[in-house]
Amino acid sequence: MKILVTGGSGMVGRYLKEIIPDIVTPSSNELNLTNSEMVRSYFHDNKFDYVVHLAAYVGSLHDNIDNATAYFDENILMNTIVTKYSYESGVKNFLGMLSSCIYPDDVNDFPIKEIQLHNGAPHKDLMSYGYAKRSHAVQLDTYKKRFGVNYNYLIPCNLYGIVSEHHEGRSHFVNDLIFKIINSQKNNNNYITLFGDGTPLRQFMHASDLARVISKYISDNCSESFNVAPDINMSIEDFALTAIRVCHNGEMSVKYDDSKPNGQYRKDVDTTIFNQQIKNFKFKPLVEGIKEVYEYYKKR
Ligand code: NAP
Repeated sequence: MKILVTGGSGMVGRYLKEIIPDIVTPSSNELNLTNSEMVRSYFHDNKFDYVVHLAAYVGSLHDNIDNATAYFDENILMNTIVTKYSYESGVKNFLGMLSSCIYPDDVNDFPIKEIQLHNGAPHKDLMSYGYAKRSHAVQLDTYKKRFGVNYNYLIPCNLYGIVSEHHEGRSHFVNDLIFKIINSQKNNNNYITLFGDGTPLRQFMHASDLARVISKYISDNCSESFNVAPDINMSIEDFALTAIRVCHNGEMSVKYDDSKPNGQYRKDVDTTIFNQQIKNFKFKPLVEGIKEVYEYYKKR
């Protein structure tokens, strides 16, 4: 089976390449997904059985606020163009990647089920990313219904793992936290400072877990769209204290900059469909995942 993976150089893509080395992973220079003509001609020249679309403009809450236009434009273009030309070139299987942070901000019923996706606006600071990703869900559902193709998406929780480049200010929470711990150690500081007040609740998954889920999704011929997350839902503060315990010998406290926004308070997702589709999946324990990422960056 010939599989194209967009975003192959990204955090999830690199883990997926380790599991399925044969995947085709053009860089954004070789295949710029915002360039309609380039994508059309790429799909004309290359035939695929499966497309896994990981490429996205993705980053921290603060970068979503600062660069809201890019989060909308880049994502809506990439998603729309790659789906359209995949279909037109005969691709029968397509897996898109949404995110639990695009669910409605105002939710009464937790954990959040897939059918709640359009029941209210996303968090105000994630409107651009949220609506661009939600539009992709609509596009994939529509193609599936109208053309009978196996076009679906996963909705993962917050991810962390080893990234090829650390973008200061754009990095995801966990990676950023680990960099802060390493910097404090380097500078002999006994504290780190986090944005917000530490109370929001989050589910965190190692990116290699998502890569294993994608691999299983393909090999099991899955045909549903669903949330992916471990059960643990913990506060940012608990997470930070766990990371400090794992990465640091000695005292290190957490200070908060509560002039910065918290983001959505809670967004834990229901995993009933995930558990039915990907049976007996074992997530990497948090402590093991954090240690692995820390050791990697510490050495560098
Ligand atoms: P990432 O590390 O930020 O990587 C992004 C990838 O997108 C890179 O490989 C980049 O390629 C590619 N890309 C960006 N602009 C492109 C363009 N115009 N044309 C082609 N490729 C382009 O992403 P990730 O963290 O692995 O995330 C993978 C997927 O999971 C994304 O869809 C994301 O929305 C979703 N997700 C992520 C999280 C999270 O916490 N990270 C949580 C939930 C869902 P180059 O390096 O070649 O430019």
